[in-house]
Order: sequence, then structure tokens, then C-alpha cells
Amino acid sequence: SALLGGRIAVVTGGASGIGKAISQTLAKHGARVVVADLDSGNAAATAKALPASQSHSSFACDVSNADSVKGLSEHVKSLGTPSILVNCAGITKDSTLLKMKQEQWDSVIKVNLTGVFHVSQAFVKASVDNNNHPLSIINVSSIVGKMGNFGQTNYAATKAGVIGFTKSAAKELAKKNVRVNAVLPGFIKTPMTEAMPPTVLAEICKGIPMGRMGEAEEIANSVLYLASDLSSYVTGATLEVTGGFSM
Ligand code: NAD
Repeated sequence: SALLGGRIAVVTGGASGIGKAISQTLAKHGARVVVADLDSGNAAATAKALPASQSHSSFACDVSNADSVKGLSEHVKSLGTPSILVNCAGITKDSTLLKMKQEQWDSVIKVNLTGVFHVSQAFVKASVDNNNHPLSIINVSSIVGKMGNFGQTNYAATKAGVIGFTKSAAKELAKKNVRVNAVLPGFIKTPMTEAMPPTVLAEICKGIPMGRMGEAEEIANSVLYLASDLSSYVTGATLEVTGGFSM
């Protein structure tokens, strides 16, 4: 399909879990994907395994570091101007509020929230500098940003922050050909959730109307919609993909 024919898509956190599925889905629909991830080995392997592998590339990048993001934007500039940016890099460092260390708080804010700022600013600049080149930004937030979750005050704060960022940026950039939307996944099978105790996961599934966790591909398909012209009149939206957990 040529839904995204030849468009450049940058996927942060694109080497694992949801981001990897997003890289694969966007590539399947014709995008030229830049897999940007802290884990350079997994990023390179992910890019190499995409269909039409010569169209894609990987770049080792720490989204929480402004200089590292500058390096990413220079790499992408050598390819062209991106049409799609997916901010998917994210981490958890769970602890109850009473036990949370400053480092757990700071590191999650830096990656999940400040990272979205650095990367979005870099690629919005690239669009505006190229005659308001159309850009669709998709931020991977979480239903936890809206509902909260035991042990995740830091993570929930970043994911709620990403929702506010998304809506403000959508208002600022609508007249510059930039759409900004967020996807709020529920509980999805990835290395991040595999780290949770099975008893906790079983308990969570009981509360999901569809009775199961989601697949990374099911998030990727929602991102595909927001990345493509199928969503041409959608900006500032938050799309909940939770198997009914969040209605
Ligand atoms: P994952 O751990 O499988 O993948 C995260 C990727 O981000 C990894 O490849 C990692 O190397 C990369 N990364 C981490 N820190 C980075 C940094 N500083 N710079 C660049 N890359 C970095 O996790 P996942 O479950 O696929 O989560 C992906 C996104 O989806 C995250 O933002 C997460 O918060 C969000 N999310 C996940 C779930 C879920 O149930 N798995 C639910 C809601 C939201």
C-alpha cells in the first residue's frame, strides 16, 4: 500500500515493543523509517529487518539529551524532511510515592517528557524551515496519564504532561501544517509489561472488558491512522486504545 508512499518517518524508541511495531507498520505502508533509539544494536537490527531495508536507517539517540537529538536531526536532514514523527521512547521506574527516590523521579521526567520536547522542537523546526512541510506528530502517552496507576506517580505525571503538550502544540502549529495527536495505550504486551508480576497482570486483565492485554501491532495500527492522511482533519486528539479499560 502507498498510504505513506516515500514519506520519512522518525520513530523514537523504535527498537523495541510498541515502537518496533510502529516502525514495522509504517514501513509496510511505504514510509522510509528512521529507527531512533538509545539501544543502537536493537535499532540497527530493527531497521535492517524492515521491508525494503535499503530505504530505512537507524540512529543511536538519547531523547533526553539535547546534543544527542541535534545529532538525530542532522542525520534525518541528510535524508530529507520528515512527514511523520512518533515520540515513543519511554521508561518506567516504579515506586510508591513514599519510597520514590529523586533519581527515579528525575530520570522518568527527563526521558518521557523532556524527550518529547527536544525531539518535537527539532522536527517542527525542520518543517517550518522547509516551507511548512506537512508533519504529523504522534505522541505515545498512556492511559495511566489519565487514570493513574499504583506505584507510578512519576510515570503518570509524564504521560499526563504529554497530553497537555500535545494539545498546546496542536493549537500552536495547526496553521503551519503540523498536526499533533496522542495515543493512549492501555496494557500492551511488551518487554516493559513483561517485567510486571504475572499475578498483577492477571488482575489487570479482569478489569479489561475485552479480557486481554493488547498487542503492540494494535497500537501501531492506531498510529498509522494518525500518521496518514486518513486523519487529515484530526489534531489535538487523544486516542484511547485500551480494549475498553478506560471508557
Ligand atoms: P520498551 O521498553 O519495549 O521500549 C522502549 C524503547 O525506548 C526501548 O527500545 C528503549 O531502548 C528506548 N528508550 C528508552 N530510553 C530512551 C532514551 N532516553 N532515548 C531513546 N530511546 C530510549 O517499552 P514499550 O512498552 O514498547 O513502550 C513504548 C512506549 O509506549 C513508552 O513511551 C511507554 O510509556 C508507552 N506505553 C506502553 C504501554 C505498555 O503497556 N507496554 C502502555 C502505555 C504506554
